[in-house]
Amino acid sequence: MSNPYPLGLRLEGRRVVVVGGGAVATRRVPALLDAGADVLLVAPELTPALRAQADAGRLRWVPRRFAPDDLDGAWLVQVAVDDPLAAESVSVAAAQRRVFCVRADDRTAATAWTPAVTRHGPVTVAVLGGGDPRRAMTVRDAIRDLLGARKGTLLTPAVEEGSLPNAQPGGRVALVGAGPGDPELITVKGWRLLTEADVVVADRLVPGLLLDELRADVELVDASKIPYGPSRAQEEINRILVDRALAGAFVVRLKGGDPYVFGRGGEELLACAAAGVPVTVVPGVTSSIAAPAAAGIPVTHRSVAHEFTVVSGHLAPDAPASLVRWEALAGLRGTLVILMGLKNLAAITATLIAHGRSPQTPTAVVQEATTGAQRSLRSTLGAVAADAVAANLRPPAVVVVGDVVGTLDV
Ligand code: SAH
Repeated sequence: MSNPYPLGLRLEGRRVVVVGGGAVATRRVPALLDAGADVLLVAPELTPALRAQADAGRLRWVPRRFAPDDLDGAWLVQVAVDDPLAAESVSVAAAQRRVFCVRADDRTAATAWTPAVTRHGPVTVAVLGGGDPRRAMTVRDAIRDLLGARKGTLLTPAVEEGSLPNAQPGGRVALVGAGPGDPELITVKGWRLLTEADVVVADRLVPGLLLDELRADVELVDASKIPYGPSRAQEEINRILVDRALAGAFVVRLKGGDPYVFGRGGEELLACAAAGVPVTVVPGVTSSIAAPAAAGIPVTHRSVAHEFTVVSGHLAPDAPASLVRWEALAGLRGTLVILMGLKNLAAITATLIAHGRSPQTPTAVVQEATTGAQRSLRSTLGAVAADAVAANLRPPAVVVVGDVVGTLDV
């Protein structure tokens, strides 16, 4: 058998017929849709996942067995049925119409093979194993590990998005959520952009291990070391982001948790926009949900809490600048998650109780969640402020108020 000739098919708007609606089709269809193909699915029955795609209008479903005319106008057909006779009839119809035919049931009968694939930003690696799909997957996994390895040095400039010939000239900024503390809780996209950065501007709460692994030539700016008051420091950070980007650098602004949850991400976006610097925002796993979870507390639970409210406690309830209506929050039944609330915890809990929330409401504090230093405490709304002081809990910590605290304790 001759070697196959590899191609990257550009399927946008082009008809691809998938014959079969079972497990194989379920695995094949998403990549076709991702490539923008006009998918026609021919099968008497569908798996629930495929049915959902059809119901959402992402593909067209013809609910019957295959007929040769189904291939009229198609550029490609994928056969995902077990029955060899049915599969062969698709092959015959495909050959008559000069349509390439992928066969899940019999690779030797196929006129095209689907490779094992790994994607890394703009780069797609496709591996054919000479007829052995497992060999292809083994090689693919090795390449994926190499490209995704937590070592930016492995990415040669040719693989980096910013250096592709058609990439936008000039610099740009990505606001990336680093997650709550565990370095593995950054998103795949956030991690990739970090490995591609020329400059990284990092917050105090960003997992140190992520920074440990940056390439040696990356300029690292520690935003917590900027020696001004909070508002001057923010102006200075905005200035660094804009200046570096205008000088042509790819700047990653790495922020704890999610960039838009009490992270001043919006201000940084506006500063960049005002200077004409393109910005990408990569959401992160926020501590407001992850810290409770790390202490075994779900922020919602069936028949316990149908809502959760995230609030900043950095201002005392009676502070003139406070935007929080604590008396209204006291009337809610659901889960209340308070960030930056340790300093004002006595005043906050007293206000909630004064306006009607029961002092017996289960309450927890989780400090440095998802890190090796995580500590947590279970108490009640009435006692938590004193208990947190007695236990010497320190920021960063999240306070969780509500019946969800303890729900999963067994
Ligand atoms: N953007 C961040 C929040 C920034 S405000 C996010 O989405 O998570 C900083 C506050 O977040 C801290 O005072 C603390 O209340 C909370 N916080 C951040 N990381 C935390 C962690 N690992 N454990 C507990 N609380 C954390």
